[in-house]
Amino acid sequence: MRISIIGAGFSGTALATELATPDDSDLDVCLVGVGSTFSRGVAYGEARPEHLLNVRARQLGASADNPGEFADWLNLTERGRDSFLPRLAYGEYLQDRLQSVQALSSNLTCLEYEAIMIERQPGGFRVHLADGSDFFSDRVVLALGALPPQRLAGVGPRLAAHARYIGWPWQDGALDRIPSSARLLIVGTGLTMADVAATLRRRGHRGPITALSRHGRLPQPHLPEPSPAIELPPHVLRALAAREVGQLLRAIRSLAPVVPDWRSVIDALRPHTQAFWQQLPPAQRGRFVRHVRSYWEIFRHRLAPQVSAELDELQVSGQLQVRAGRLLRAGLSTDGEGVDTLIRDRGQTRMNSERYDYLIRATGLDTDIARTTHPLVLHLRESGLVRADALGLGLETTPRYEVEDAAGRAVSGLYCIGPLLRGRLWEITAVPELRSAARELAAQLLAGERTARAPRPAARRRAKA
Ligand SMILES: Cc1cc2nc3c(=O)[nH]c(=O)nc-3n(C[C@H](O)[C@H](O)[C@H](O)COP(=O)(O)OP(=O)(O)OC[C@H]3O[C@@H](n4cnc5c(N)ncnc54)[C@H](O)[C@@H]3O)c2cc1C
Repeated sequence: MRISIIGAGFSGTALATELATPDDSDLDVCLVGVGSTFSRGVAYGEARPEHLLNVRARQLGASADNPGEFADWLNLTERGRDSFLPRLAYGEYLQDRLQSVQALSSNLTCLEYEAIMIERQPGGFRVHLADGSDFFSDRVVLALGALPPQRLAGVGPRLAAHARYIGWPWQDGALDRIPSSARLLIVGTGLTMADVAATLRRRGHRGPITALSRHGRLPQPHLPEPSPAIELPPHVLRALAAREVGQLLRAIRSLAPVVPDWRSVIDALRPHTQAFWQQLPPAQRGRFVRHVRSYWEIFRHRLAPQVSAELDELQVSGQLQVRAGRLLRAGLSTDGEGVDTLIRDRGQTRMNSERYDYLIRATGLDTDIARTTHPLVLHLRESGLVRADALGLGLETTPRYEVEDAAGRAVSGLYCIGPLLRGRLWEITAVPELRSAARELAAQLLAGERTARAPRPAARRRAKA
């Protein structure tokens, strides 16, 4: 039985190491990923030294049964375990971990290629790689991460193709071409904007920076010391069970002022989030995405304290201005020397026309498969093997991680893991949830493999006779 995992970021690597074994095995695991980010993925493979993890080191072990493994690997002191380390260090840990497992395993193969097509065949799938080769696989797991970002709404085609538009700020050296005096417009005020600001600061940027989002809210900081763990009181548990967003928000608001730190409330909710989300009626999910999501993101996905302090400094000095509003239009100026924009500030009817030197997209993870240009996902969607979830959060999947086809039927043997599961799980972008998902899917695949190998009752009877 061959299981192929497409995508060698955190999720794919975590799943591959769960399935790898040094013993003789009938299970052949093939991890397929692109060379530049193999074993690290985008978050930890395209980072720079100033980009910090937003989770404390002590919680970041890649395996669900050993959360302390990353901190142990670095030999950290007790104090170091509570710190927020560079994402590059985490990438090195993931790479080292995969190499160690692969060296001992008898059943894990790594292929450094992009997969561009997956076709259904009797009993499995044919995987086509970018070099023109292909192979058969009984099971395939999509571990593709988030999708490449789409062009910002309102950005004209000339600007989109021009160096003054930076649509993927992590990509090698994307920010290096910006002169230090340039006037910058960053669309997005979340964690990606914080990454961009950290890099600009490190490069000694002196020009003004405007960060724009619909609500103009920055992510909240973690405290230097972990917030005390709390148990959720009965009225919050009742609100979780009631499957009603408004009731839950009221319960949380009533609790926040009476606990030592509001972060404890968010952290205590985290183990309940997936079940709450799954039980919400579709209309409530839609309301959550429309009205609550931007608040949830800033309280749940927090900044390392150092990064938050740097953003504060940039704001206090006046270099960084954070604005609530909408970018209505952006185009390359007629002389090609700038970016002409039309912006409407929140609550205003008047539009401002403003000139910047560069426009940077920092709007976070894209998981909308209906609009994507990702070659493999596009092919899967067009061939009807996958379908978008109702809210544009990713793929429609079953509780067993199997994707659903265009007609809503489970595609037996084709699975998905990672941020594209947000439609079903919502809380599935950070390491703690991803490693649990990898463990659960691995157990399921191994159980399926054992069932497939076990002789059928008739065959067993014949063997006995
Ligand atoms: C900038 C950034 C910072 C983050 N910081 C943190 C953090 O501090 N803490 C935390 O817990 N979480 C963080 N996250 C969340 C992050 O999403 C997860 O931690 C994790 O990296 C997601 O892993 P993944 O494998 O699902 O996706 P990815 O890491 O994106 O990996 C997917 C991989 O699949 C490859 N791929 C895609 N298509 C194909 C194809 N057709 N063929 C072959 N390969 C393909 C991609 O190149 C990539 O290498 C961060 C995310 C980002 C984007």
